[in-house]
Amino acid sequence: MSKILIVEDEAKIARFLELELKHEGYETETAGDGRTGLEKALKKDVDLVLLDIMLPGLSGIEVCRRIRQESQVPVIMLTAKDDVTDKVAGLDTGADDYMTKPFAIEELLARIRVALNRHARPGHKPNLLTHGKLVLNLSSHSAHYGEDELTLTKKEYELLEYLLRNKNIALTREQLLNNVWDYDYFGDTNVVDVYIRYLRQKIDDRFKVHIISTVRGVGYIIKDER
Ligand code: CA
Repeated sequence: MSKILIVEDEAKIARFLELELKHEGYETETAGDGRTGLEKALKKDVDLVLLDIMLPGLSGIEVCRRIRQESQVPVIMLTAKDDVTDKVAGLDTGADDYMTKPFAIEELLARIRVALNRHARPGHKPNLLTHGKLVLNLSSHSAHYGEDELTLTKKEYELLEYLLRNKNIALTREQLLNNVWDYDYFGDTNVVDVYIRYLRQKIDDRFKVHIISTVRGVGYIIKDER
């Protein structure tokens, strides 16, 4: 069973998260300020940290920075507002993901699963990502559709990997840019559209399938058939 540490000073939100996570079968622990959060996050039995940014004592950004000096435990930042500076700072300090409050609990749960999978201990680590006939081999960094090998550039591969790791989640261009290209999104997000087009040429067009969907007004998604 995975243990999730909730670092959040707003008691109501902390309690809500605790109940939802327990309901999903996770063990939980809470901390109401940055210092306690940091102390608990460095304990070996914590599998993931939900970290609020606005905290008394030590800010979430600072907590994350210090966690990263000692540990690779997955960290998902919770930001109170849609503050670009916070997001960029959070990801810069090594957070795995961020969510803006208020958020849908289902989306947070999905991201927790993704982060936990990504950090699964060796031996449990799935080295294949699949979607129907599409298979990404994470050990060899190769991609196949059925029997056919796909010739992908490094960025195309990374974009496809990110989409598959976050399957069934609508990803914004900004998220894709932040996570695949490693730079903040003050720049042009057109590059994402360009690479999505490349991937579609190499997969969707070539095999006459529909793998990558556009979510109007949001971005892109790879969705399981229902
Ligand atoms: Ca707070």
